[in-house]
Amino acid sequence: MNPKSPDAKGHLLLLLPSLLMLEPSTSVQYVKGIGPRLAEVLATKGIHTVDDLLHYLPFRYEDRVNPRSISELRAGEMATVIAEVRTSGLFRTRRMPIFQMTAGQGRTRLKSIWFNAAYLRDKFKPGAMVALYGKVEQDQYGGELQLVQPQFEIIGDADEDGSADASEKTEQKLAASLEVGRIVPIYESAGQGHLTPRWFRRIIRGALDNLTPELPDPIPAAIRQRLSLISPREALRKVHWPDPGESFADLQSSRTPAHIRLIFEELFFLELGLELKRREQKAQTGIAFGLGNQVREAIKKILPFHPTAAQKRVLKEIASDMGQPFPMRRLLQGDVGSGKTIVAFEAAIIAIEDGYQVALMAPTEILAQQHYFSARRILEDVGYRVVLLTGSLEDDRKREIRRHITQGNAQLVIGTHALIEQKVEFAKLGLVIVDEQHRFGVLQRFKLMKKSDTGAGVPPVQTTKHLGTAPLGRPTEQSSATPVEPDVLVMTATPIPRTLALTLYGDLDVSVLDEMPPGRTPIVTRRVSDERSAEVWEFVRKQIAAGHQAYVVYPVIEENEESELKAAIRMYKELSKRVFPSLRVGLLHGRLDADLKDQVMRMFQKGELDILVSTTVIEVGVDVANATVMVIEHAERFGLAQLHQLRGRIGRGAAKSFCVLMTGGKVSEDCERRLDAMVRTSDGFQIAELDLELRGPGEFFGTRQAGMPSFQVANLIRDRQLLEAAKREAAAVLAGPNAEISQEEIKRALRHMRTRWQRTYGLVEVG
Ligand code: ADP
Ligand code: MG
Repeated sequence: MNPKSPDAKGHLLLLLPSLLMLEPSTSVQYVKGIGPRLAEVLATKGIHTVDDLLHYLPFRYEDRVNPRSISELRAGEMATVIAEVRTSGLFRTRRMPIFQMTAGQGRTRLKSIWFNAAYLRDKFKPGAMVALYGKVEQDQYGGELQLVQPQFEIIGDADEDGSADASEKTEQKLAASLEVGRIVPIYESAGQGHLTPRWFRRIIRGALDNLTPELPDPIPAAIRQRLSLISPREALRKVHWPDPGESFADLQSSRTPAHIRLIFEELFFLELGLELKRREQKAQTGIAFGLGNQVREAIKKILPFHPTAAQKRVLKEIASDMGQPFPMRRLLQGDVGSGKTIVAFEAAIIAIEDGYQVALMAPTEILAQQHYFSARRILEDVGYRVVLLTGSLEDDRKREIRRHITQGNAQLVIGTHALIEQKVEFAKLGLVIVDEQHRFGVLQRFKLMKKSDTGAGVPPVQTTKHLGTAPLGRPTEQSSATPVEPDVLVMTATPIPRTLALTLYGDLDVSVLDEMPPGRTPIVTRRVSDERSAEVWEFVRKQIAAGHQAYVVYPVIEENEESELKAAIRMYKELSKRVFPSLRVGLLHGRLDADLKDQVMRMFQKGELDILVSTTVIEVGVDVANATVMVIEHAERFGLAQLHQLRGRIGRGAAKSFCVLMTGGKVSEDCERRLDAMVRTSDGFQIAELDLELRGPGEFFGTRQAGMPSFQVANLIRDRQLLEAAKREAAAVLAGPNAEISQEEIKRALRHMRTRWQRTYGLVEVG
């Protein structure tokens, strides 16, 4: 359509307003002032539709209701000043270039300075109106007030485009009224600063004004009332154009009714999808394991100690899941040392006693080996056949073990994740246990599930249809064609704050081991500067003389980091030759041959080594109760979660344990807080909370955390309570229609959820 042709124009007018109304799903390029080229720029910010644009929220607000007059400013305060640009220029000092701009109100003037800001050179045209927001300070020579590095915005270029016709002028006036005399939203710029906050303000205002009047609320009325949620349209308007009376503090902290409505909505539809997913999984065919007496007997036989109350409770939850005819999808969360392994073995017994095989996957070979040793020690007593299948085995041996698995001779198969990925054929796989799986987010798991049918992020495991000549197992009704999902138990040692677990593992049921086995004495943790290392080594010597063992850990965080590894090896030589010449010192790092690793680990376990110098390979799961000292060198280079995991290697027996955090030189403030937390507490949940706070959710779960959902408006840390509410209400909706929520409303909510999931997470098949 050619808008210049009078005919087309006539038609357009006739079709008004329906044609010009924007739907939330309309592409942003049709929003006035955007077009295809800028739409591309916006796409890089994740803004594709009108809805995306309207959810591009200001990251802060500026109180320009009462801009200040220059003459009343005081040093030390934050202030908004609106003034006219007079002069500006770049000054080179000896240390750095300083950009300086002077703006005035009538006769009074105010200087603003920015360091290293040559890029500002052509920004301020004399005569333009500028809004400045920043800290008022006295300049270094004596008293004149100035703004230091203020935020700024040109709000009225006198000579922006000379050709302004009448309508453009009104628009400019309108724009101007959006800039001052109100609380002004500040958006993050886009397109290398080309799309300014001011541009967003105008565009979003336009989009809001033309938004279709039909904007039905996808959240059922009863929930809206219960939580006093305002309507979506009102929320969008107020979040971009706060009412004059709105609390400025609430705005800045995203706690206005408008923010809450939008945040809740986002979380609600996330939780709705997760909950639905979980129900779907329950609807699949699984194995209803028998829980007869022989299971109880076998479990009793293997237990080397009295289980803690938490272990009992958790086992009950697991057993109850396993007894159900749908596949178990359970997460077992327990801090390091809380005793997850034995619980896993108990679950294995349930499956094995019913004639099924169990796969136990560990993240590292060392850990797989360790599980293998304890499984043999514990489970071979009751007559089960345990095999270890790792990448480093000879090919012949591998083939043999695979045959045992395929024929059903091996009842418990232990390996690394990578290994099980290579399609091992099981005769009759009933349970998959994934240990220390803290790096999978919920979306990642969903994506994996698409590839395999095994669910819960478990790589493909193939099950042959019949038992063949297998000597074990009763024939079952499932031996024919119906695909049967094995049960899955995921174990993690990363204590995840509860609400986050709800989201990250929202598709799993969660059990928590929140009690340590008895007889543990708390670990004493100290910080020591590495200048005092001699004292530390002396202390280690004493502990070893008392019959204990010690770890010395070096920060080789990435095992392929050549220089770090060299440093660790050098220190090993130093320690073994010079510091502890009469003690038995071993070295363990990720690059060692698997056999050698195995040998070193076994020696340490048996007490044939006094000191184990190691990289972070011992971070997960290694269990040597006689080791009571851990010295962590360059502790400042480790993350909090990692320090906690490392420290979890000691304090595993009754003897008092000591963790020494050595630091070299001055450390950053964040690092101070990390080390401080380590000294103060050994409660994994407290540490996790602080870690989360220090790093934010993305980092908290590691950079590989591609499975973290990203949010438009919500923030998992800030909005925990809303997340809880969202989860609760999502469950209420899926409970089905009742006096409060109608079938219609449920359908609408689900429809909305599906579009949203598809758009946001690229997952179509939810629901
Ligand atoms: P994690 O949860 O970190 O995997 P483990 O399963 O390795 O912990 O258990 C840590 C240590 O505690 C092991 O030495 C284990 O034998 C011991 N343990 C586990 N449960 C109990 C219990 N109920 N009583 C005494 N010791 C226990
Ligand atoms: Mg473990």
